[in-house]
Amino acid sequence: MKDEALLQVQQLTVGPLEENCWLLADPVSRQAVLVDPGDEPDRLLEAVSASGCTLNGIWLTHAHFDHVGGIAGVVRDTPVPIWSHPADRVFYEGADKNATRWGLVVENPPPATHTLAEGDVMTLGSYRFDVWHVPGHAPGHVAFVGHGLCISGDVLFAGSIGRTDLPLCDPAAMHQSLLRLATQEDQVRVLPGHGVMTTIGRERASNPFLRGAARPIGA
Ligand SMILES: [Zn+2]
Ligand SMILES: [Zn+2]
Repeated sequence: MKDEALLQVQQLTVGPLEENCWLLADPVSRQAVLVDPGDEPDRLLEAVSASGCTLNGIWLTHAHFDHVGGIAGVVRDTPVPIWSHPADRVFYEGADKNATRWGLVVENPPPATHTLAEGDVMTLGSYRFDVWHVPGHAPGHVAFVGHGLCISGDVLFAGSIGRTDLPLCDPAAMHQSLLRLATQEDQVRVLPGHGVMTTIGRERASNPFLRGAARPIGA
């Protein structure tokens, strides 16, 4: 297995909803990706620049406005391909309107250039991440899994899970998605869409939704 220490992972918490954008930077290939650039595009671009790597893509766990609101600003400066699951298109294209309902302002992203699907493999230099379709919080929600990391978006949080009472949520699907994420090894690091980093082992031991003590609302 590849030396995981080589891949640089940076948590950038942005915006009024405190969503996490994850910067993955490979110092060998000098390439980087931003996962879920939700807000504060200038700050995200500065972090890419500080990594010494060149941005070569944007990957989305899902397209709720708090995870796509920084895309327009990023690609205006640095045009890169954007990967999004087509089942979240309604959120992607309506980000500005959905934000307005929360009293927030976001700029709609330009159209996604690439689709994501279960079984796809995303590459960053010599690193490979599997795309797992994990619907429930959003119909087009995916996780990026590989190299001891699971970028879990708004499915799994430290001690909690994402909401299942929003439009197009599917609580039963969420339950299945959580069970699937829980099949990973204990030491896998979970990089969530909100809150702090955790591990699958810690969540399996303490998160009521992975321990079977609780189910998503409506499941
Ligand atoms: Zn969300
Ligand atoms: Zn979110």
